[in-house]
Amino acid sequence: MLVDLHCHTLASDGSLSVAELIERAVDRGVDRLAITDHDTIEGYLQAKTIIASTPLELISGVEFSTVWGKLGVHIVGLHFDETHPQLLAGVEHQQRARQVRAQLIADKLERLGFKNAYEGAQQYAQGSQLGRPHFARFLVEQGYVKSIQQAFKRFLGAGKPGDVKAVWPPMTEIIQWINLSGGVAVLAHPLHYKMTATKLRALINDFKAAGGAAIEVVSGVQPNDKTRYLTELANRFDLAASCGSDFHHPQAAWSDLGKLSVLPANATPVWDLWD
Ligand code: MN
Ligand code: MN
Ligand code: MN
Repeated sequence: MLVDLHCHTLASDGSLSVAELIERAVDRGVDRLAITDHDTIEGYLQAKTIIASTPLELISGVEFSTVWGKLGVHIVGLHFDETHPQLLAGVEHQQRARQVRAQLIADKLERLGFKNAYEGAQQYAQGSQLGRPHFARFLVEQGYVKSIQQAFKRFLGAGKPGDVKAVWPPMTEIIQWINLSGGVAVLAHPLHYKMTATKLRALINDFKAAGGAAIEVVSGVQPNDKTRYLTELANRFDLAASCGSDFHHPQAAWSDLGKLSVLPANATPVWDLWD
């Protein structure tokens, strides 16, 4: 069974519509799919209406932005009740936080001398939530930087002036929203946070204590030693294991839908928690 529990559509920063994403998932042989757009369930809700004509099994999903201390951490929510008041209130809170953040990013860019950053970025958002990719595009199109990558490296990426995290709720609160709405909280891509092994264990310890249920043991195609390391961590903390491609764009061949390393036999698949 091919399972992909982490991907993005146009509802956040992916580049495929929900219909295109579902078609691609079917083409690539995915059996079980969760659409996990950043801080919105729009993609999932749209998918629900078209999934019936396909063999795909769709799991509710979202990727929430949170902070752990001063550090930005992503928590994926899976298999929740999408009509639960706490979940809906949470998503609404995140949407407001995104608006506040977009304004803060724009203010910072203005202070760096990039005029009309808010309006400039807005024209690339096309009605979807305004986020860093749109500011990146604005900086490129205005000739301030040569590429999207450079925009992130110099102005928008982790630790750069336009990287605003202060608006996100603490990780513990987000885990509560997910649990209250009957879902499973998953620590997304644990190796992307670039922390020491000791700090990662502290994060996972807090995540578990707050009611977290699983960590993403497989994020796309990764070396076996990483899979082994994350499986050991999951097992040590009595957490289940999730897997997803974190697919955003068809152009990025290294992270296609359903293109993932295999979950080891000694890991407890996250779907055991709801199957
Ligand atoms: Mn993204
Ligand atoms: Mn993420
Ligand atoms: Mn993601």
